[in-house]
Amino acid sequence: MSINYHHDVIIIGGGPAGSMAALYLSKYGLNTCIIEKKKFPREVLCGEFLSGEVSKTLKELNLFESFLSLNPVKISKFKFINEKGTEISSEFYFPAYALKRSLFDHFLLKSAVNIGVKVYQPAEAKIFKREGDKFLVQIKVSDDQEIIINSDYVIAAYGKQNILDKKLNRSFVGSETELKAIKFNIPNNCISNFPADEIRIYTGEGIYCGLNRVSEQETTLSFIEKRINGEQSPRNRILNLINANRKLGKLFGKDFDKLLYKLPIYGTGNIFFGKKTIVENGIFMIGDAAGVIAPLTGDGVGMAVQSAKLISSLLAGQKNRKYTRKELENIYLSEWNKLFLNRIRIAIFIQKLIITKIMNNFSFMLVKSLPFILPKLIHATRGI
Ligand SMILES: Cc1cc2nc3c(=O)[nH]c(=O)nc-3n(C[C@H](O)[C@H](O)[C@H](O)COP(=O)(O)OP(=O)(O)OC[C@H]3O[C@@H](n4cnc5c(N)ncnc54)[C@H](O)[C@@H]3O)c2cc1C
Repeated sequence: MSINYHHDVIIIGGGPAGSMAALYLSKYGLNTCIIEKKKFPREVLCGEFLSGEVSKTLKELNLFESFLSLNPVKISKFKFINEKGTEISSEFYFPAYALKRSLFDHFLLKSAVNIGVKVYQPAEAKIFKREGDKFLVQIKVSDDQEIIINSDYVIAAYGKQNILDKKLNRSFVGSETELKAIKFNIPNNCISNFPADEIRIYTGEGIYCGLNRVSEQETTLSFIEKRINGEQSPRNRILNLINANRKLGKLFGKDFDKLLYKLPIYGTGNIFFGKKTIVENGIFMIGDAAGVIAPLTGDGVGMAVQSAKLISSLLAGQKNRKYTRKELENIYLSEWNKLFLNRIRIAIFIQKLIITKIMNNFSFMLVKSLPFILPKLIHATRGI
């Protein structure tokens, strides 16, 4: 197998982190490629809520108007509702939207192609090799063809769980967590009295579920559950929550269970929220590959685009060889920690509060009696 191509930067993964990094790097004049293993558009397990950081970044890249032409749903407030029916709510102080990730991710990747980014797709990065200051990445482009590309830098934007983590011997590989996540897209005509401009989180014992409109046709329902009392099917788990949280139940008609059995499920288990290494053997991790924020209490896509912007501006500076490789790695690590570490910790803490029954009741009462806390918590878990 021969070395076929060279790029300044290879990005593995064409989700929001990878595409945004490519968009910024191209803007800074670096020759960049993306390797994406799936054909787009493809479904993604996500609540499909896009926070203020996303709009801000799209504006910086002159992509905001084209984004609006995809008809995202504007979301201006949010509400938490627990099993007792206690509600706490707040307006967002930033512009937020909801859009199917299949559309959003496709739009970003196409935008990268439009400005000249080379995209290998469908193509799977299989192995990296480091030779001094160069990286070799072997990619599978078809059943019987593999090619090798080389670069000065590699950015890993391949998401939260990946076979490549094992190949890189990352320390969290093999960690067992009890958390599972699921998404359904529900037709809007099966949900009544749900405001189009609101995101809601419904909580129950060991589970919390987010609901928001993503288009004129569909609403995304996604949930995180802690395995309690053995394994239950995702559909039963959400039907149990609907029984337990009556305000959630009121949104759906009596035949909702039949509908649920017809809808496709997107899900994953064993989500790891602990600490990950940010640079691994010279490879810069961004998005979920660098660290996962508890979904629905923090915005993973927002973090993905911010970490993409951070590494891109550092690599752009390297055109003048500003830093040694080691210095660059240390700066990225320290800036990443400054931007995200507290956010991740607070989001995980909130997740624990709302998922634990006793703490849930206590924290809902506390936030209800001291309403100024909620906007502060939103602020503490967002980068805007
Ligand atoms: C239940 C749930 C709900 C969520 N809800 C929200 C929400 O409402 N709002 C929000 O902001 N965040 C949410 N998140 C988090 C959000 O989905 C992630 O943070 C976000 O997708 C991270 O983007 P990424 O680009 O890092 O990774 P991904 O979106 O996972 O993209 C990684 C890409 O890499 C590709 N890839 C993987 N391996 C390879 C390989 N070897 N070679 C080539 N390509 C490869 C994959 O095909 C994929 O396209 C939620 C998460 C969960 C679990």
